Amino acid sequence: MKSFKIYSPASIDEALKLLPHSRGPAAFNAARLVAGGQDLLGEMKDHLVEPEALVNLTGIPGLDTIHCGSSLTLGALVRLVSLERHGELRAGWTAIAEAAESVASPQIRSQATLGGNLCQRPRCWYYRNEHAPCIKKGGHECFAEAGQNKYNAIFGGGPSYIVHPSDLAPALVCLDATVTIAGGRGRRDMLLEDFFTLPNEGSVERENVLKADEAVVGVSVPRLPSPWRSCYLKFRERGSFDFALASVAVALAVEGGAVEGGEIKAAKIVLGGVAPIPWRCTKAENYLVGKPHEPATWRRAAELAVEGAEPLEHNGYKVRLANGLCQKALRHLA
Ligand SMILES: Cc1cc2nc3c(=O)[nH]c(=O)nc-3n(C[C@H](O)[C@H](O)[C@H](O)COP(=O)(O)OP(=O)(O)OC[C@H]3O[C@@H](n4cnc5c(N)ncnc54)[C@H](O)[C@@H]3O)c2cc1C
Repeated sequence: MKSFKIYSPASIDEALKLLPHSRGPAAFNAARLVAGGQDLLGEMKDHLVEPEALVNLTGIPGLDTIHCGSSLTLGALVRLVSLERHGELRAGWTAIAEAAESVASPQIRSQATLGGNLCQRPRCWYYRNEHAPCIKKGGHECFAEAGQNKYNAIFGGGPSYIVHPSDLAPALVCLDATVTIAGGRGRRDMLLEDFFTLPNEGSVERENVLKADEAVVGVSVPRLPSPWRSCYLKFRERGSFDFALASVAVALAVEGGAVEGGEIKAAKIVLGGVAPIPWRCTKAENYLVGKPHEPATWRRAAELAVEGAEPLEHNGYKVRLANGLCQKALRHLA
């Protein structure tokens, strides 16, 4: 790994002043934010980025708090282990706790932060191979499109076919989270759903709208009123710890509670591990409203959730997998 300086600013404003003002070829060597380091240090060891300096956020006070009130507010430095273990959070925003506990291993979750999880880079092995000049690294081609694409996107791909690796992202999008971003020009809030960008929107080398001199400072999530309930299910190849081959976050409001047979009043379904962004299944969500909460409904909703999938040569299994996970999650909420 190339040697680097490390700065430990005492405030977010101080941190932002250390960042470059634009992305471009020089950004490869520019200062980078680091939080838990669980993604960035791997990238540096693999020479995917070689920053001259790291701006360590972890000493900044006030960014590691969890507050459960009429909404859930989370600082960007909240560790994933805290999301997983917080009883009130788990009761009110179950999908978030379940997504957090599905991430990596306990050791990684004790270091990894919310902000870092949302801003982590893709795991596509062509991107992660320093010798593969793929389109995500300024090259001209997505090698996964015609290559080894078992783990790549079945929705929203082209010109790059990465999948977004975050487990928290689909759960937070499903629960209508808002992200707060701080930058040189002040703060802005936006729906987390709008934070993530497809490869054909903005820059193919980026996965979100963050500018070079901006940082995520927190996320807030409205409290689901009764009778809403939520869950997060993930399928991974390796049982001990692994990224999602596919995952699903579901939130449902069912008349009389989540009782089987009750009328579904509202629904949110977001898939993970299948697209470059958390993938909203709006058609399935609309279908569910007014239907009885029962197996035939779950089967049709799951079909609609994967409608329009465009699998590559080696990842057709993800269509069946995502379909099965949707049905299982809907049944789970009964
Ligand atoms: C073996 C292994 C298995 C894993 N499995 C999973 C998994 O199953 N599911 C999953 O979701 N993740 C998984 N991960 C990824 C891991 O969850 C993320 O790497 C971790 O959450 C990143 O958090 P961090 O605080 O360590 O981020 P860092 O490594 O510090 O930062 C990651 C990126 O985000 C940027 N960044 C950090 N904080 C901010 C901020 N506040 N604002 C803007 N940019 C910021 C950094 O500049 C960097 O580019 C795995 C990682 C490993 C190494």
